[in-house]
Amino acid sequence: MTLRDGERGIFPARKGRVYPLTLRAGKIHQHSGQTIPHDRLIGTEDGATVTLSGGAVFVALRPTLAEYIMKMPRGAQVIYPKDLATILLWADIYPGATVVEAGIGSGALTMTLLRAVGESGRVISYEIRDDFAQRALDNIAMYLGKVGHHVLRRQDINLGIEEREIDRLVLDLPEPWQVVPEAVRALRTGGIFLSYLPTVPQVVKVVEALQGSGAFGLIETFETLHRPWNIEGRSVRPALRMVAHTAFLTVARKLVTPVAVFNEIEPA
Ligand code: SAH
Repeated sequence: MTLRDGERGIFPARKGRVYPLTLRAGKIHQHSGQTIPHDRLIGTEDGATVTLSGGAVFVALRPTLAEYIMKMPRGAQVIYPKDLATILLWADIYPGATVVEAGIGSGALTMTLLRAVGESGRVISYEIRDDFAQRALDNIAMYLGKVGHHVLRRQDINLGIEEREIDRLVLDLPEPWQVVPEAVRALRTGGIFLSYLPTVPQVVKVVEALQGSGAFGLIETFETLHRPWNIEGRSVRPALRMVAHTAFLTVARKLVTPVAVFNEIEPA
């Protein structure tokens, strides 16, 4: 795997930090007064060491999806990698699945879903803001290239979901309880509803809407904490800083006959 001309989001990495860069033949990259011609990066192996004009040593890397998401241009706030990873298993996103999401925001979740469903699946994104939609499409194209299994609907999802018999519905918007009645119509039985919400009053509203809908069971709410550790000689301890809060995930299954007892999940 070698780095190519025109490739976006190459990161020369140093001391655990990554810096975005788009490779363009003939251009010169500058970093803290030191330079390296892009032509020296083009054709190098993914992970190779490169030396700048002043002797600083960097690693040329094609970014992982998580690295790319944290450095890509943002319109709306993105879902962080720790939550994207969790969403993939708790919403059980599988190859071939049809997934509806709203809103598209900066496209971080969209890219994660597109990779997980693969080309035999489909991701349909609802978004009300044209500027966010355009930014997201640019971000997606920059990393994934041309994708044939993505559909963008510039529509308010509160006004309806056009699709029926969908496998999964993932909502990252402020009032997902408004979507619950339509989620009942759009999801297949056994399908999964997932919402991503930053505050507790929002979580209460969505859970009450799911419980009151008469269609969902196995309703579960949780958050994930990701605490990095420092492992350096005798300094083996948690990192001094962490992202303390992002959002709560609420997950529910659409059942044929929801029974109240199914709404409690027994701890393993
Ligand atoms: N998940 C995205 C971020 C979404 S931010 C990411 O990972 O990058 C929330 C988005 O929802 C915003 O773009 C906002 O415009 C959109 N939105 C809010 N209400 C909506 C609605 N009713 N229908 C469709 N999109 C909506």
